[in-house]
Amino acid sequence: MLKRLFNLTPAGYKLKALDSKINQNFNATLKFIPQPMLQYLEVYITEHCNLNCKHCAPFSPIAKKSFYSVEIFKNDMERLSLLSNRLLCKLRILGGEPLLHPELEQLLKIARENFPNTSIDLVTNAILLPKQKDSFWQTCKDYDIAITPTKYPIKIDFQTIENKAKQFGVKYKYNNGGEVEKRLFYQPLDLLGTQNPVIMFAKCAWANGCIGLDNGKLYTCPYPRSIKNFNTYFKTNLIVDKRDYIDIYEAKNMDEILRFLAKPIPFCRYCDLNRLTWDNKWERSKKDISEWS
Ligand code: SF4
Ligand code: SF4
Repeated sequence: MLKRLFNLTPAGYKLKALDSKINQNFNATLKFIPQPMLQYLEVYITEHCNLNCKHCAPFSPIAKKSFYSVEIFKNDMERLSLLSNRLLCKLRILGGEPLLHPELEQLLKIARENFPNTSIDLVTNAILLPKQKDSFWQTCKDYDIAITPTKYPIKIDFQTIENKAKQFGVKYKYNNGGEVEKRLFYQPLDLLGTQNPVIMFAKCAWANGCIGLDNGKLYTCPYPRSIKNFNTYFKTNLIVDKRDYIDIYEAKNMDEILRFLAKPIPFCRYCDLNRLTWDNKWERSKKDISEWS
């Protein structure tokens, strides 16, 4: 009761606003501090997808069909495993749609062999899960890979999938807490690149958090990694240069990598976080440039 009354007073509102501001500033500051170890990594093993979501962060609705090569994936995992001394809290294997990769089972095995103690998730839209062979489920069980589907507002027999996971003893949990109504995140691009990169980095929820690996390069976030799909489709030229990523074969050690990931990159100038919106209705993409800009 006292707490409710306090919340309703002008002083209470001011204190709450101050608390939220302090939290925002604290979270922004954290992005500039190198992590003590690599805590989170995502690998996009396909560029394309069999769903077609508006605002898709890796630009999959407009991406050409493309697969992470097994050989490169193996080299990259081995190199990162060596650099990190096998220390990684969470590895998420995703796409596009990762179940479209014809050598997915091999990739899962390679990931586990290089990171024996890491929590590994396979992030999928679930469309192809009912079609997976027993060998897929057995691999997930044997190599301790958790299947983490996102529920989109499309028709999928989740009960049958859950039964299958249970039958094979595979870890299974939904990404959006089992909610059917997937909401869309819209982080617009400024095609002219006029934003202040330091301010955008500080405001960005992905910065130094959604670390992504792509063909030997590590990125602090998904956009510079995936912008090739956007540039190719819309014939734009949002530039990614050597200062936007770190090459894991050139980096001398993990400290150098962690320091790099905690810094704004030139590509941040293309992100307009002032226009970001979180809670948009799920819709299919019309492949229009306005969905990302
Ligand atoms: S499921 Fe939707 S958001 Fe996810 S990669 Fe495919 S198109 Fe993009
Ligand atoms: S490039 Fe954009 S998405 Fe990436 S950290 Fe900078 S502001 Fe965030």
